[in-house]
Amino acid sequence: MGRKVGVIAVVLVALVGVLAVYLYNRVTVLDHEAVTDSVSVIYGAGGNVAVLRTQSGAVVVDTMTFPIQGRRILVLAERLGGGPTQAVINTHYHADHTHGNPAWPLGTRIVATERTRAYLERFDSAFWEGLTAGAAPNDLFTDRHDLRIGDKTVRSHYLGRGHTGGDLVVLFVEDRVLHTGDLFFNRRYPNIDLEAGGSVQQWAETLERVLALDFDRVIPGHGPVTDRAGLLEFQRFIAELAEFASESAAAEMSLEETLAAANLEHDGAFEELSVPFLFKFDRDFVIRRAWEEASGVVQPVELEAPAASGNL
Ligand SMILES: [Zn+2]
Repeated sequence: MGRKVGVIAVVLVALVGVLAVYLYNRVTVLDHEAVTDSVSVIYGAGGNVAVLRTQSGAVVVDTMTFPIQGRRILVLAERLGGGPTQAVINTHYHADHTHGNPAWPLGTRIVATERTRAYLERFDSAFWEGLTAGAAPNDLFTDRHDLRIGDKTVRSHYLGRGHTGGDLVVLFVEDRVLHTGDLFFNRRYPNIDLEAGGSVQQWAETLERVLALDFDRVIPGHGPVTDRAGLLEFQRFIAELAEFASESAAAEMSLEETLAAANLEHDGAFEELSVPFLFKFDRDFVIRRAWEEASGVVQPVELEAPAASGNL
């Protein structure tokens, strides 16, 4: 009997070990591919990361979900980017784009919009206190931010509300590559953060301004690298979703009626994005969020105006 219990215990410990290794690999394995001679994308558990190679070292856009991923991205970026990181850019405040930040040395330039910094303090303050406080964005802007590093120009733009109220897009000018952050989920249903200023109603117009920029290749926040046509496809879906939601709100339809009546056409190839027990971004999710905004059920949270600037 004692021996049997011992065998079961050994098997259980082995199973837990296998599961731990599986989860560890799932979280820490990174894939990467070249987008141009100087731009690479890193895929992993979290938002897509871009690395730009310059004569002076790497520029990194977004840092994924866990500090341990950040440490791996830091090492990979040094190799892909021609030297140590010269600047990090956070497209928006969400954990799956920023929680790798603490891997970079204190004092690293970290660019974001002022709104992103404010949302991060408002919605994710537990993470950004204490040891990680110095890893929060420290080079903030409102509309446009230019970096000249080595032989490369990196231009960040805030072009309006969509996924949150503070998303920037990054243009690698010489390479004609754009990182959109989560303003673009390529062939996936997007998260829509209404509480942090996101807006389905304004998203398509924001993407119109994004499409007016000068680029060929597009790194989305989630999903594979694509081109202008891929971004246009997503814009068509967002416009369709916004129109349907405002019609349903104008007709004073309930959420249940709205979900039942939804007849969207531009999401044929979309995949769901989900983590069990945490979130599920699917057709019902995006319709619900669009309806919540259009019918006024959910309003963006008011931000306190920061002492240093009055533009929040
Ligand atoms: Zn996001």
